[in-house]
Amino acid sequence: MALTLSDQMLKAAIEQSFNAVVVTDALLEMPGPRILFVNQAFCDMTGYTCQELIGKTPRILQGPRTDLDTIERLRRCLKAGEFFIGNTVNYRKDGSCYYVEWNISPIRDDKGLITHFVSVQRDLTEKVRAEYERNLMANALEANSDQVVMTDRNGTIVYVNRAFEKQTGYRREDVIGKTPAILKSGHHDGAFYKQLWDTLDSGQPFRATFVNKARDGSLFHLEQTITPVRDEYGEITHYMSTGKDISERVRMEQTLRRMATIDLLTGLPNRSFGEQLLEREWYRAGRYAEGFSIIMADIDHFKAINDQHGHGVGDQVLSRVGQLLQDLVRRSDSAIRWGGEEFLILVPKTHLRDAVELAERVRAGIGRHAHPTVGHVTLSFGVACYREGDTRKILLRRADDALYAAKEAGRDCVRSAPDD
Ligand code: GH3
Ligand code: MG
Ligand code: MG
Repeated sequence: MALTLSDQMLKAAIEQSFNAVVVTDALLEMPGPRILFVNQAFCDMTGYTCQELIGKTPRILQGPRTDLDTIERLRRCLKAGEFFIGNTVNYRKDGSCYYVEWNISPIRDDKGLITHFVSVQRDLTEKVRAEYERNLMANALEANSDQVVMTDRNGTIVYVNRAFEKQTGYRREDVIGKTPAILKSGHHDGAFYKQLWDTLDSGQPFRATFVNKARDGSLFHLEQTITPVRDEYGEITHYMSTGKDISERVRMEQTLRRMATIDLLTGLPNRSFGEQLLEREWYRAGRYAEGFSIIMADIDHFKAINDQHGHGVGDQVLSRVGQLLQDLVRRSDSAIRWGGEEFLILVPKTHLRDAVELAERVRAGIGRHAHPTVGHVTLSFGVACYREGDTRKILLRRADDALYAAKEAGRDCVRSAPDD
């Protein structure tokens, strides 16, 4: 059996409706329809009491930000007896504004004449604000100059921002639905990814410098933070990763490091780096009882080259001799620019006899080349083999003494320090 609603039941339903309800008469001439009934929700929304509203027109809710086009459309709908739906900004009694969405239906009598209008209204302020905040957040993520990548729980990419597109060369439609594995450069091992997941699974953010691969195959360094994102029940639903591209900084650091270790004129390791190399060899010799030798080489009469041809040509000769030394020694040996026109050759795992042989080979090799302006340039060589108990200073002094002996012997020759 159909339930017949009594007037009283209807009234109670409207009174208690969660939505704001207002009923007006149908007088359309100025000042317009007057309020005959409002429910509690309408009073709550507007801040007026029922008494304050009855007899007034809904105009009292309008204010400077009320959208006049919407009101005009409303007026036309009412005149035409049509249903209206719209939204605008209205004002509470205390002057504060709220976003309202409302509809108005005409009520007709038996003859079809409009006698009243019923309006149901909803305060959208919270919804509008939430949407505004969402937009604001989305815009902030988009505008961020750091890369932002959002994945779901399974690591599938659901969002990337513009900076990501710009730095990786991938468009968002290329990567959404894929996993960040597409960026893998192969520079991180299993332990790295294990630590990443262990950290994230424990609910902590993971921070590290990633070496990633862009679409064109180039590598870039990213200072990245990956953070688990939780829902209101505390469940991890997403991971958000923000990454700062530090490739430029890394490149600069590499250049600086190179500049700090390399002699610019010859391209050989410089003295300070050479001392580190010598130290490393010296420790290894002490620890593993592995012998090694050093060769001190000095250009003969270099001062005269400078004096005759100028400092610029002198520099050319130095640079050329440096390259020749590098080419003539073995890959496991190091030729170091030790001082002005003095070079140290570090010869690992090699005893005196073989080191002297090497020095001879180098000397002969240099002799095969002639500089276009200067002609043949010669070097003198002093060789010393590490003896147990030698400090680096003593070892260097022995090589130096041998070099002095070579100079004394007429230059362009090899002399060695006694190794007993
Ligand atoms: P010796 O055969 O006894 O070694 O004589 P030498 O003339 O080579 O030795 P000396 O120590 O008298 O002179 C070395 C010269 O090397 C003096 C210095 O001006 C020059 N020199 C040092 N560093 C550089 C450099 O970077 N460029 C140039 N062009 N000359 C340099
Ligand atoms: Mg010299
Ligand atoms: Mg010298």
